[in-house]
Amino acid sequence: NDEVNIIAGALELTRKSVTEVMTKIEDVFMIDINSKLDFETIAEIQRRGYTRIPVYEGDKTNIVHLLNIKDLTLIDPDDKTQLKTVLKFYQHPLIYVFDDLKLDAMLTEFRQGHSHLAVIRRVNSEGDGDPFYETLGVLTLEDVIEEIIQSEIIDE
Ligand code: ADP
Repeated sequence: NDEVNIIAGALELTRKSVTEVMTKIEDVFMIDINSKLDFETIAEIQRRGYTRIPVYEGDKTNIVHLLNIKDLTLIDPDDKTQLKTVLKFYQHPLIYVFDDLKLDAMLTEFRQGHSHLAVIRRVNSEGDGDPFYETLGVLTLEDVIEEIIQSEIIDE
């Protein structure tokens, strides 16, 4: 029954890590920090329909800001406003977490209310060079909630 499933799902959170429910980096819709908010860019953002859009600088693995779709409410496409101007105005905090963080700890962080999107990174020390942060994906509160309510156990 539903209650048992939800409790089971909640207990699962302590065992599952963020990488198991994240959206992989190659599937994340992002925007270049040097974009101008012209008609074309705004239309593309609207078309994708995401509430939160990570902003990258240089490389798509280098996520440096977060744009919320609501930030575009007062933007006139004819002004061709620099995205940077909007980012500076709203300054949404962005959470970075490591790949081994468990979902219960992630939920606790989301509940602090600073941000409802987290960027998942790991330390890559496999190559010959210095270790570096490798961005693996993003995760929202929705991904954690889904894990709680979709968890299924077989009824007796
Ligand atoms: P939204 O409010 O934009 O629908 P949710 O927080 O409800 O986003 O998350 C729905 C799903 O979409 C989750 O699996 C989340 O990881 C994913 N998601 C959120 N933002 C993006 C994005 N910018 N690009 C790709 N996937 C995203």
